[in-house]
Amino acid sequence: MKQLIVITGASSGIGAAMAKAFSAAGHPLLLVARRIEAMKALALPNALCLSVDVTDGDQLKQAISRGVAQFGPVGCLVNNAGIMLLGQADKQDPSEWAAMLNVNVMGVLNGIHAVLGNMKQRKTGTIINISSVAGRKTFPNHAAYCATKFAVHALTENIREEVAMDDVRLITIAPGAVETELLSHTTDEEIKAGYEDWKAQMEGVVDPEVIAAAAMFAWEQPQSVCVREIVLAATRQQ
Ligand code: NDP
Repeated sequence: MKQLIVITGASSGIGAAMAKAFSAAGHPLLLVARRIEAMKALALPNALCLSVDVTDGDQLKQAISRGVAQFGPVGCLVNNAGIMLLGQADKQDPSEWAAMLNVNVMGVLNGIHAVLGNMKQRKTGTIINISSVAGRKTFPNHAAYCATKFAVHALTENIREEVAMDDVRLITIAPGAVETELLSHTTDEEIKAGYEDWKAQMEGVVDPEVIAAAAMFAWEQPQSVCVREIVLAATRQQ
């Protein structure tokens, strides 16, 4: 039996593409996000879909326990759930910064907290954290989003070093712009329009399936090999 893969933010975009890719490879899945119907609509076999807000650590832990009870230990957790609310530092409502920090940083830490102890005990396991090119360089109007994604790089690498001798792998995947719902939550219409112009200048960004294939590549290496970081973007992206 193939190992259980847990994917957060599987109701759209990159998470949904990863769910399809891991399912096609024969893995049972635990899919979590708030929109349960969208995950069920993927209609994947051996997939438990649960409505979870990743900012609620207890809720996430309970969901993972249900997945483990049904399918066995977690082989890989993909911390993918994230939001991007772009804004000017002097104008943006600070509640938007708090929301991003909660989902993009606390959500990732909550996921790690839920699985890491068991992985260390079993001396195996993989955690893939989805960061961004915005976790490697800055962009206008991205200050708080960049802060969350720089944090994902930092915490992933930090914990990777801590658990390396336990044979647990931590991996960062940092995509450039991908065609998903991510931009739709930004409330500043001018910034949104500017972002769309920037994408149009590239004449096409990366498809979610490309990111899913990168996650699959990292996962499929032998457990003794850790692909620490993959940064990938459209060739034309600056
Ligand atoms: P989408 O908006 O399409 O997907 C985001 C996913 O996160 C949804 O499934 C959403 O589900 C979930 N999510 C958001 N908030 C929560 C929450 N509180 N609890 C549980 N799930 C939540 O965007 P993408 O697919 O693009 O984003 C996936 C990841 O990729 C994010 O971390 C993003 O930062 C990163 N990324 C995206 C890039 C892009 O250009 N698209 C570039 C680089 C990185 P629901 O609303 O149902 O809860």
